[in-house]
Amino acid sequence: MIDEPFECERCGACCRLIWAFEGLLDELSDKDGCCVFLDKEENACQIYKRRPTVCRVDDYFYRHVSGVTKTEYIEATKKCCLAFRQAAYQGLDMGVFRGLLKEALSSYPNLNTF
Ligand code: SF4
Ligand code: SF4
Repeated sequence: MIDEPFECERCGACCRLIWAFEGLLDELSDKDGCCVFLDKEENACQIYKRRPTVCRVDDYFYRHVSGVTKTEYIEATKKCCLAFRQAAYQGLDMGVFRGLLKEALSSYPNLNTF
């Protein structure tokens, strides 16, 4: 499907490592790099309806991404989600984590954010 929506599994992994969003969410970080709005027990965003655009994959694509199709952007995002889960819950080394994020995004050399 050309315009498939991103389906978040609500694992909370990306919300626990928001330093990885290259400064876009730094103001929401607690001392451990987790978003202050994450309910850690429920893995739920406490400001879900008001969450920033960067936390909304589909909106972010339409507003800030060029050079790839929506399907390609979702594929790249899903690869990043996998890396986030390994880093947040399976003890993946942070250097390896950064490398996986870079690799996921470099699969699409024309992907640009603005
Ligand atoms: S890592 Fe991906 S699946 Fe998990 S909460 Fe974040 S966006 Fe959703
Ligand atoms: S605002 Fe919500 S969705 Fe965004 S990082 Fe924080 S808890 Fe996660």
